[in-house]
Amino acid sequence: MLEIPESKTIGIQAGSTLAKKRILDVITATSPHKFAFYNGDPEDYAKLLAGREIKSANGHGMFVDLHCDDDISIIIGEGTNVRYYSSFEQRPEKHQLLIVFDDGSCVAFTIAMYGLIWACRGVFDNPYHKVSLESISPLDNAFDESCFDRIVENTTKNISMKALLATEQRIPGVGNGVLQDILFNAGIHPRQKKSVLTDLRKGQLFSSLKSTLKKMTDLGGRDTEKDLFGHAGGYKTLLSKNTLNNPCPGCGGTIKKEPYLGGAVYFCPVCQKL
Ligand SMILES: [Zn+2]
Repeated sequence: MLEIPESKTIGIQAGSTLAKKRILDVITATSPHKFAFYNGDPEDYAKLLAGREIKSANGHGMFVDLHCDDDISIIIGEGTNVRYYSSFEQRPEKHQLLIVFDDGSCVAFTIAMYGLIWACRGVFDNPYHKVSLESISPLDNAFDESCFDRIVENTTKNISMKALLATEQRIPGVGNGVLQDILFNAGIHPRQKKSVLTDLRKGQLFSSLKSTLKKMTDLGGRDTEKDLFGHAGGYKTLLSKNTLNNPCPGCGGTIKKEPYLGGAVYFCPVCQKL
């Protein structure tokens, strides 16, 4: 899934790799997907996109926006993967959309669970996308402790830490992936209620949110996700499917995995006491 470290990384990579490339053709899904969300009929994408030049890219929240000339954008979000193939590389057989450039290179969009591949002229009319563009990212200096406090105050007192951080897109691009290491580094259990969070713990959570996301982004995303070139990110996740059977990096104990709020949470019952 695209979360802040990956959308930022892919946005930067797409900006330098795809800018000035002209779209020659659009090939619709060779492998149709029930949960691939398009703007209208993707068969019409070729008409909209052919001949356009990619001007820039912007990764934010759980989205990557590719801006073309004539006010046209291609926006991917949530669980959509985007992979670039040079003219020397074999194109993938299965995809949910493929954009071919006039130099023979292409980008393929694939979806695992669900995702968005949106091509439109003008503003993308989507509330999550709008909020994501308008929000201050935790990567920015302007996202300070008072900013975080406002987000925390605007929730109910019995909300859990996972629900607070990773649902409703209160902090766009913080989801169930980055959540695990943010909470581990703060020593906070995913089920911990806000009402029993001390000011000290809240401060630790704020620091961990900023520093963990920065480290993940600086290292090119998490090792559980792929970048524009199909490489795993350089950030080694502490708690994820990759490390489930490893000892806890804090105490050497056993990491637990449980289903909670529509996705697995990983935690150390010793380092993250309830
Ligand atoms: Zn531990």
